[in-house]
Amino acid sequence: MNTLHHAAKTTGLSRRDLLAAAGVASLGALGCASVASSRSSAPAAPPAIAPSAVAPVVAPVVAPAMATAPAASGPFTLPLLPYADNALDPLISSQTLGFHHGKHHQTYVNNLNKAVAGTALAEMALEKIIATTAGVADKSAVYNNAAQHWNHSFYWQSLRAQGGGVPPLLLRQEIEAAFGSLEGCRKEMLAAATSQFGSGWAWLVLDGGRLAVTKTGNADSPLTRGQKPLLTIDVWEHAYYLDYQNRRTDYVAAVFDKLLNWEFAAGNLAAG
Ligand code: MN
Repeated sequence: MNTLHHAAKTTGLSRRDLLAAAGVASLGALGCASVASSRSSAPAAPPAIAPSAVAPVVAPVVAPAMATAPAASGPFTLPLLPYADNALDPLISSQTLGFHHGKHHQTYVNNLNKAVAGTALAEMALEKIIATTAGVADKSAVYNNAAQHWNHSFYWQSLRAQGGGVPPLLLRQEIEAAFGSLEGCRKEMLAAATSQFGSGWAWLVLDGGRLAVTKTGNADSPLTRGQKPLLTIDVWEHAYYLDYQNRRTDYVAAVFDKLLNWEFAAGNLAAG
């Protein structure tokens, strides 16, 4: 076609960049109908989020370094993805990221804002809300949406384009001490992820000064068990079904081998 195609060839910019630059905000035309137009302003490269600033409390995970989308009506806002929505393609498609971030995560944020409105919880940091409402029967809606907001904010940062591979030295040494080898860690992560019945999360955590792999169901968080999360993989079907259908193992293997952000984990470990 057309001038965009030509411009993409001559400038090296992607067609999407050019569309955005041209003010054509309709990602729907690119098959991303679920992604809000505000996503066109998402940075192409991760913002500078110092890993040490992310841990040990949750607030930095959704901190100012991650710009937030507009239109929040409450204390909590959806963080922009720390990469373009097609950065993980084809391992996690832009369609999956569009729904997962723009719909599922956004809904947790919206529901959390509604649930805390007019209560003392609205003044609390996210991590405090999680700690305060965990296991409290009549606060389960608050807890579930708060924990899912935290978990997803952490998950986006647990991934990166051209991830996987060999972790930084100090983290690698801790992995070898705990699991014998990186392959041992991989086996435990895949086992945790695939044995989680129904929805949930697989985690690499720091537990009593030693690395461990664990899993949680639904919205549950290692934070409530005194463990410090280093990395997570979302194993809810919405995380992978469009790309992998029922093949959760293939999704988890692809994430572990090619998308895990070991630098993020190393930063969390160093801060822990
Ligand atoms: Mn999810």
